[in-house]
Amino acid sequence: MPRDFAMQELFEELPAPQPAARVLVDGLNDMVLDYAIPAGMQGVTRGSRVEVPLRARSATGTVLALVQPEPEWAGRLRPLRRLVNEEPVVSPALMDLAEWAARYYAVPVEQMIRCIVPEPVRQERHEEKTRKVVVLQDWPDDDTLNKINRRAPRQAAILRYLHASADKREPLVDLGGSPALAPCRALEKAGYVRIEEEAVHRDPAGAEVFAPTSALQLNEEQAAALQYINSVFDSGGTQPILLQGVTGSGKTEVYLQAAQRAMEQGKGVLILVPEISLTPQTMARFKGRFANAPGSVAILHSAMSDGERFDEWHAIHRGKARIAIGPRSAVFAPVQNLGLIIVDEEHDSSYKQENSPRYHGRDLAVLRAKLEGASIVLGSATPSLESLYNVQQGKYTMLRMDKRADGQRLPLTRVLDMRSEPKDKRNLGILSERLRMAIDERLTKGEQVILLLNRRGFARALQCPECGYTANCEHCALPMTYHATENRLVCHICGYRQMVPNRCPECHTANITLEGYGTQKVEAVLRRCFPQARMQRVDADVTTRKNALRDILADFRAHRTDILLGTQMISKGLDFPGVTLVGVLNADLGLNIPDPRAAERTFQLLTQVAGRAGRGDLDGEVIIQTYNPQAAAIQFARRHDTDGFAETELELRQHMNFPPYCHMAVITARSEQEELAALAMETLHKHLLAALPPQVQLSTPLPAPLAKAYGQFRYQCTLKAPGARILSDICSREIAAMNCGEGVVISLDIDAYSFM
Ligand code: ADP
Ligand code: ZN
Repeated sequence: MPRDFAMQELFEELPAPQPAARVLVDGLNDMVLDYAIPAGMQGVTRGSRVEVPLRARSATGTVLALVQPEPEWAGRLRPLRRLVNEEPVVSPALMDLAEWAARYYAVPVEQMIRCIVPEPVRQERHEEKTRKVVVLQDWPDDDTLNKINRRAPRQAAILRYLHASADKREPLVDLGGSPALAPCRALEKAGYVRIEEEAVHRDPAGAEVFAPTSALQLNEEQAAALQYINSVFDSGGTQPILLQGVTGSGKTEVYLQAAQRAMEQGKGVLILVPEISLTPQTMARFKGRFANAPGSVAILHSAMSDGERFDEWHAIHRGKARIAIGPRSAVFAPVQNLGLIIVDEEHDSSYKQENSPRYHGRDLAVLRAKLEGASIVLGSATPSLESLYNVQQGKYTMLRMDKRADGQRLPLTRVLDMRSEPKDKRNLGILSERLRMAIDERLTKGEQVILLLNRRGFARALQCPECGYTANCEHCALPMTYHATENRLVCHICGYRQMVPNRCPECHTANITLEGYGTQKVEAVLRRCFPQARMQRVDADVTTRKNALRDILADFRAHRTDILLGTQMISKGLDFPGVTLVGVLNADLGLNIPDPRAAERTFQLLTQVAGRAGRGDLDGEVIIQTYNPQAAAIQFARRHDTDGFAETELELRQHMNFPPYCHMAVITARSEQEELAALAMETLHKHLLAALPPQVQLSTPLPAPLAKAYGQFRYQCTLKAPGARILSDICSREIAAMNCGEGVVISLDIDAYSFM
């Protein structure tokens, strides 16, 4: 013992060996290599971006850690070539977030680092843009100016223009662009002006100016919510706060004032919104409150140009922009001294990324808050059951705002039973007589109408048009999907199969149907019923063009259209004072999909929609057409009863062992050749059966409900487990060990939100 101790001391007196940089090399699928740190490059630290030698070429990479090299490598490591940026690009907290997420979602760390350092920043080629600015130095007396005018009228005109401008300086482009350069140079020579290079910030908001606003006087509920948020912020608390406030209760005002407070304390703020193209209001409200100066509020999303992303990212990274706003990917924004995170509409499924890495933006935001010691507010009118469960478990604190800030009543909501509608040839069972009359009435009064077609996916469920019966799995209580190839109904959660009945088991009609319908068919019916109305359809087909959705919504706002017909895509941007009627054409389609969250999504959609009608001075009305009038999601939405729905649905989830009471994952094998996909899934299934502990439930391998997409056949397996880690660790190991060969791609979706 004493001898060991002495040895230890001896070692400590030796000079410590030079640490090496452990580098995750870009583009090598998580290959990690150690490099020596040459003298003069001591700034290298965890999160630095570096250039390294790789065989005979150069590559870039991210430093994962500083390590003591293995003894046999000491002195033999190749040195780093260059430090790409002086400052480390990825902060320690973001490195931790990347490593945690990589393990949780079972993806290479590099994929997560790619999210943190977006492509334009990695590539370094979008250097800052500059422009020439001409500055007035000396204003000649009248005589001299006249002389100049005779000799070179152009020069005189430039001088006058500069003299008239407020700050005596103008960008060259405004003086006529490059043709104006020669006269400006002549003026510079004569000492009248100076030509400068000035950095331009490429602002995605462009020259748009937002009306400045100041803090509103909060009502009682808002004040109480803000006070609680501030007290958590002041004490450095990181326990998430769930702000449940009905639509229009003024949550955004609370976010703004909480952000204000954080900014005053020198902290940075991160705001996540569901889909930036649908939430320009949020951006406008933050820009309006926190100065219009470019860069103070930065926006990050993938629809921006590379140059804009580069500038906005660096503005945040340098601490110039203190507020960052964006969709799920902005959870990785390099906000300095982060103090507050806000996740608006936290229940929205667009927070889940549906391609690799399949992370959940809200969940990573909660983790990031913890890692950085920031406070976090999750806001929604219809919180996710995951978050409500976390409140029950004491992990989150709930705050409520139950009244609308503007004192408006919630609109009257009617549920219309489509089973009793006569099916004439004219409306094809799409439009009930009651809704048709309501639309007619609103159009006559010059008011506007939104019609929502609830259409998610294309899963073919069986539903009886006479009695509303749907074929549900006996084990999962979820709709079964029709498989044409084997002419069977199949449950996609557990694999249970059943014959297709040729008569309805409930009412015995032979008229049992598998058909859904799309927006185009509905549009045709509506045009026939309302030939005079100006109508606009919104669906994925119409909105492929950039800004198409924005333009359509602007037209509708300006009342250049009367009826807006769309999928759930439009439900989020709904804030139109002229809209007095919202019709939901088929509330059922969203229910009839094999997804444990189908009822939750339907409830959220209907509640959001209902909360949006009648935002102006006119009272609103909502009509919901359904074949399932008794469905919980529909009845609770009609009564605006969020608590009632949550209670009922949580009980059901617990009973069926669905999230949030378990974690679910989906494994998908895709191939252009059907047999290959099927074989890969079957083989993997066998390996998983052997490897997984008994508390994990594994479905049989099946063709996916979306059996073929983008030319590839899809087979899948669903898993349920008490924890996510057990799924990520074992599944990723088995997938990696499986040599499924060319032409098959296997993907793993942890905490899946899509079961298609
Ligand atoms: P939410 O985000 O909860 O749906 P909003 O923040 O959009 O609600 O607020 C709804 C409307 O009420 C907005 O027009 C907003 O300007 C207004 N509002 C919010 N808070 C107040 C307040 N304290 N006093 C007056 N009007 C308010
Ligand atoms: Zn089942």
